[in-house]
Amino acid sequence: MFTDARLVPAGTVIETDLCIVGGGAAGITLAREFINSGIRVTLLESGGEQPDPAIQDLYAGSDIGRRYEIFQESRVRYFGGTTNRWGGAWCDLPSPLDFETRPGVAYSGWPFPLSELEPWYRRAQPVLRLGPYGYALTDWGIAQENIPEPFRGPHFNVRVLQQGPITRFGQYYGPELRQASNVTVYLNANALRFDANENGGPVRQVDVGVLPDGRFKVRARIFIVACGGIENARLLLLSENAAGIGLGNEHGLVGRCFMLHLEYASAAIALKNPYANLLFQTGENGAIYKRLGAKRRFVSYISLSDQTKRALDLPAMRLRFQYPRLPQIDALRRLVLPQERGGNRMRDLASVIGAGPGLTKYVVGRIKHGRNMPPSPLAAIPLRFTAEQLPNPDSRITVGEDRDAFGLRKVVVDWRLSAEDQRGIATGTRLLREELGRSGFGELHSTIPEGEGEWPSDLRGDQHHMGTTRMARDPKRGVVDENCRVHGVENLYMAGCSVFATGGTFNPTLTILTLALRLADHVKQRLQ
Ligand SMILES: Cc1cc2nc3c(=O)[nH]c(=O)nc-3n(C[C@H](O)[C@H](O)[C@H](O)COP(=O)(O)OP(=O)(O)OC[C@H]3O[C@@H](n4cnc5c(N)ncnc54)[C@H](O)[C@@H]3O)c2cc1C
Repeated sequence: MFTDARLVPAGTVIETDLCIVGGGAAGITLAREFINSGIRVTLLESGGEQPDPAIQDLYAGSDIGRRYEIFQESRVRYFGGTTNRWGGAWCDLPSPLDFETRPGVAYSGWPFPLSELEPWYRRAQPVLRLGPYGYALTDWGIAQENIPEPFRGPHFNVRVLQQGPITRFGQYYGPELRQASNVTVYLNANALRFDANENGGPVRQVDVGVLPDGRFKVRARIFIVACGGIENARLLLLSENAAGIGLGNEHGLVGRCFMLHLEYASAAIALKNPYANLLFQTGENGAIYKRLGAKRRFVSYISLSDQTKRALDLPAMRLRFQYPRLPQIDALRRLVLPQERGGNRMRDLASVIGAGPGLTKYVVGRIKHGRNMPPSPLAAIPLRFTAEQLPNPDSRITVGEDRDAFGLRKVVVDWRLSAEDQRGIATGTRLLREELGRSGFGELHSTIPEGEGEWPSDLRGDQHHMGTTRMARDPKRGVVDENCRVHGVENLYMAGCSVFATGGTFNPTLTILTLALRLADHVKQRLQ
């Protein structure tokens, strides 16, 4: 059932079993799990079904650390959350090392191994409409013997990302929730603060604000916060007690260890053999592979191996090829395709003839492999990197003095990188250079600094906000426990990548949904 919170009389107190705050990927996935469960669910969503600048403005804040260029565009505040903006829906698994405690990496380690999550990863796949679970190279037609030597270990290996159809969670799953008699979605309902017992114990209620000045409360047996990786922390900090301590913040950890994935390019491989078989590595847009009867899109990428990360205490790093368009192919298209006619025919002809057997090989390959064929011959392949940001308590989310339309303190992002992050990028680049040279695959041309203290000039943080309510068994090292429950608050849970203890280089949403499904099972057990 859907209700517009603007119609709820001021002062109303809603009683429910489970209150989920936030209707994005995590909140909607959680709510769906309770349909027809007999458990009364109230989902509070800040926005409506369409974007509204006044509501989006509630996300505004300031950026005082290392410049976070896409801070304002990286989250979306209406039903469906940031899935209203995502353009790729690329999903992959963490590697087992991402979950392990690494003695040389401070704050590393989740409370359980990656394998613990496998049953829920399998259930999360269809939620993202990804099709059957399977991330082995052979699932995608890539044989080890077709991978060139430098990417077959020991330092680098090849992994895959799957792409689902772009699922806008609000549009796609909204109708199901609208039909559900035990789930009520309140649109335009902003959680303002949680009201908890002063000395620990349960949350009693959440105060809800409706623009411009509506107020009501929701009382529940269990609350789950699913407002995205930045707002999750802000909401706990805004729910401070009389002593000014935010909810779950007895150890000052809420908002700390804010992590993004680090994106940069600035490098290319000059291939020794321009006819090298590149079919193991798909470009930016991936390739289609017929898997278990259906055509599915995937991207294969090169990753620093777990073995090397473990041995050298390095953060994760992955790189993808950005295949350039071949001018000879464009010339050929202009010559043979009537709809592309134009340009200088003599010059195009000379370009095609000049390409010689390489072009013939490419055209034959293209016929054989369809659109999946990477361009060949290639002199150089530009690269695009993603590096892991390691947990760092100084990189953090706080609340400042500026106020939003409800009079609540706006978020302040103080994003910081560490010497360890820089060492990871420099060492990873150096290893790549050495491996390319050793194997004879090519030469790395790069402006990425390989010494101490300098960063790639184009480095920027991406849109994955992780770590601000991190998971750890020990309340002195994390905000939530292994079940995503806020330490010291018996009925408050967090969903989303704020709970990630480390972020690797994996795209987060598959893991967000996996943890949400696991949390739903846990909460059902508690409520039934
Ligand atoms: C351009 C772009 C591309 C992306 N591509 C990918 C990709 O390919 N693969 C991938 O894995 N991830 C990708 N992401 C990230 C992905 O969108 C997020 O990981 C995912 O949406 C996070 O889900 P969430 O539910 O935690 O947060 P969100 O989806 O952001 O949802 C949070 C919800 O909480 C609501 N809310 C906030 N505050 C309150 C409040 N006080 N009261 C009530 N409600 C509130 C918001 O309105 C929103 O609906 C991309 C993101 C962007 C911006």
